[in-house]
Amino acid sequence: MTLKVYINGTLYNKEDAKVSVYDHGFLYGDGVFEGMRSYAGSVFRMKEHLDRLWDSAERIQLEIPMTKEEMSDAVNATLAANEIEDGYIRLVISRGEGTLGLDPNKCPTPNIVIITDFITLYPEEFYQNGLEIVTAKTIRNHPGALDPRIKSLNYLNNILAKIEGLAAVCVETLMLNHQGEVAECTGDNIFIVRDGKLLTPPVEAGVLEGITRGAVMELAAGDGIQVMESRMTLDDVYSAAEVFLTGSAAEIVPVIKVDGNQIGDGIPGLITRRIADLYTQLRVS
Ligand code: PMP
Repeated sequence: MTLKVYINGTLYNKEDAKVSVYDHGFLYGDGVFEGMRSYAGSVFRMKEHLDRLWDSAERIQLEIPMTKEEMSDAVNATLAANEIEDGYIRLVISRGEGTLGLDPNKCPTPNIVIITDFITLYPEEFYQNGLEIVTAKTIRNHPGALDPRIKSLNYLNNILAKIEGLAAVCVETLMLNHQGEVAECTGDNIFIVRDGKLLTPPVEAGVLEGITRGAVMELAAGDGIQVMESRMTLDDVYSAAEVFLTGSAAEIVPVIKVDGNQIGDGIPGLITRRIADLYTQLRVS
């Protein structure tokens, strides 16, 4: 069966799902998006994703021409049309078709695209044995230049870091902020374990407020694991007992080496495993 893609209220076959080359999402990366997961036919934390999408849109003065309820219905209808139970959803709102200039006011109608697809997971081995990552020379965008809370279509900052990581044969890459502090990875948030406590950089360190990050913080607190937002250095990461990454697509991935430094015993730690188990239970509850 050909996958169907939602564009502005209509479902198109994947090969016919197209938007204009004059769309400012294409020309300038002017737009916002979300990446979500569905488990057993239901979207994980859809409300939180839609809230973040609307918040991102508001921060770039892009008015989404439908309600959150309509969007939620459209996402579910697209999943159903594709008979996808366990999948990945990419929700894109671009500024829309305009002229060859930056002016967003020349783009009267945003384009709304919902792609639902089967998820390509990291190999199981990464979850069992942990991941090796490196730190990029490319720093995360200065928060004063592009607010990290905006999940924008312009991912060049992250892509440049990703290219560095790939050159070191790493599927994820750590990024520092303009102050040299640990921010996040190119598409995942980072947590470390120190003295039995979970620490993750605050949004002010220049990170996206990940939905998975939020879920992990709730799960930890509910399980009696102390969790704190805290600015951290690379040395804090190198000397951590455990390190793991979180993201909608990746879920919870243990990290066992950072820039060649072994983390803890070089195997996924107990708290990481506990959080991963709790997350597995949560996503289908
Ligand atoms: N940071 C960045 C830069 C991201 O793009 C993402 C999402 N892929 C995340 C963190 C994780 O966010 P979430 O848990 O909401 O998927």
